[in-house]
Amino acid sequence: MSLPQSQIPVGEFGLINWIRHQGGSNPALRLGIGDDAAVLRLSPGADLIATTDMLLDGRHFLLEEHGAEAVGGKALGVNLSDIAAMAGRPLAALVAVALPGAAAIEVAQGIMAGMAPLAERFGVVLAGGDTNAWNDRLAISVTLLGETVQPGPVLRSGARPGDVVLVTGPLGGSLLGRHMKPFPRVKEALALLNAAPLHALIDVSDGLAADLGHILEESGALGAILDSERIPIHPDAERLASSDGRTPLEHALHDGEDFELCLTVADKVADRLLASQPEGVTLHRVGRITSEPGLWLRHVEGGVEPLDPRGFDHLAT
Ligand code: ADP
Ligand code: MG
Repeated sequence: MSLPQSQIPVGEFGLINWIRHQGGSNPALRLGIGDDAAVLRLSPGADLIATTDMLLDGRHFLLEEHGAEAVGGKALGVNLSDIAAMAGRPLAALVAVALPGAAAIEVAQGIMAGMAPLAERFGVVLAGGDTNAWNDRLAISVTLLGETVQPGPVLRSGARPGDVVLVTGPLGGSLLGRHMKPFPRVKEALALLNAAPLHALIDVSDGLAADLGHILEESGALGAILDSERIPIHPDAERLASSDGRTPLEHALHDGEDFELCLTVADKVADRLLASQPEGVTLHRVGRITSEPGLWLRHVEGGVEPLDPRGFDHLAT
């Protein structure tokens, strides 16, 4: 984003002042940028949802390659996806940045420009943040505040044996570029919440196997069987598979950063949802929850193999 010379802010306080005038509003925000802290008022009966995610240049994105706008979009998008994963309503963001000194203002403005379309689309107002610069690479941490929506929130821990496992879209191959452009399923989650009783919900950030694994663990050591031919495979997974020797299915099961939702619902509810496909949501039935622990992949010819639920682990050695 380039601005006329007169609009290029100078210094930390100039930058904050510029950010402050970027607009955005939300009736929940009683007091935003400029005081010591922000003040929000939730809807009657709602509870606060709070989530935060930090992204590091060289680890989660490459500033040189992706550009500051994409970084801003991703930083807000991954947090929106976490609010979607509770079937909540996003309200306000706090954005903390460690800017690379040499291009601090330009990077900060790029980040803001990248956040703006998502903020507008999902009704998120920038409520505050923290601005630092240093002689090192960009780090950005977004904290997103939202509120629960009745009858939510929908937790990871609600899956029950016999539940059907559903996902909201095709998976795999996000590394080809989609990982920098999350499309958070906020509206889809609220449409589903409105349409039927949801037992468990998570967003697919670590990969379907890993994230379904989180549901199984939190729901009291349950298990699941996925049907290999029912896993919706993204065209990116096919493209990536043609160059790296892994199968499209492996990519769909393990890649992560798809930002689709994975949910479990009672059998009859699944039939109803699949028949009606609530507005704007494309649901795929991928498997079933079992009382026996473990994660399994069933092939159409009949064989069953164990599935490794491990996703990406930042601290793995
Ligand atoms: P304090 O010293 O009280 O922490 P700051 O000078 O850090 O205050 O920030 C002043 C105001 O600007 C606060 O409302 C803060 O939330 C906001 N702010 C600072 N940096 C950012 C940013 N990058 N994005 C949005 N708001 C910011
Ligand atoms: Mg501060």
